[in-house]
Amino acid sequence: MIPFFTKFNEININYLFTDKHIHTNWVHAKDSVSDVIDKARQIGLRQIAITEHCRKESVYYGAFYKEVDQKRNDKTDIQIIIGNESRIYDYNGSLDISNEIKNLSEFKIGSVHNIPVDGKFYKPAILGKKICQDLEYKLTKAALKNKDIDVIGHVGGQSLKYFRSFPMDYFEDIIMCCLKHDIAFDLNYTYHYKIINSLKPLLVKYNPYVSLGSDAHKLDYIGKWSKAGNILLW
Ligand SMILES: [Zn+2]
Ligand SMILES: [Zn+2]
Repeated sequence: MIPFFTKFNEININYLFTDKHIHTNWVHAKDSVSDVIDKARQIGLRQIAITEHCRKESVYYGAFYKEVDQKRNDKTDIQIIIGNESRIYDYNGSLDISNEIKNLSEFKIGSVHNIPVDGKFYKPAILGKKICQDLEYKLTKAALKNKDIDVIGHVGGQSLKYFRSFPMDYFEDIIMCCLKHDIAFDLNYTYHYKIINSLKPLLVKYNPYVSLGSDAHKLDYIGKWSKAGNILLW
């Protein structure tokens, strides 16, 4: 069995056959739970986490959980974890998640999505590069103190997506906080592959727990590290 999390320097070839950040058409991704499971098995993954988006008011999660739970029962060749991804809601690091979902979810990712400013949420693109980077850093740091989070999602992802950069000293501080608070760093193919040569020395130096994911919203993205992950190995 592949552990949920592995220290970065202990990633080996077997650990690449995991993807613990996948979405389905329960919210806004393209493919069904069955399609995701079939694809993951087809490409030889040994473990996945389906980490559906949710908010406090989401009412679908119980039914989603039931569907995945039924479908995983007869699959002996792959471990299927039922998780969720919720946004970091404020600068105290609280998550936009209900108690019901918190209790059901086996794998909780907290991520920066739209960014709160004075109680309203803004799309990162309109904030400008520096403000986006600084607020993304603050939100992430605050969330790392939240005991409800197992994994900090796609660190720097909004700044990387909209402005193509997130300062390495922010990454360094966040990685140190992951270590301190025992939260895994979502090393996410979609956001981090392009900067892996800069990020890798920090991951090697501090050796935090990592969780490998893709943030797949389409089948083609599932298990990306299983093909491109040689770069993570020594
Ligand atoms: Zn996300
Ligand atoms: Zn996601």
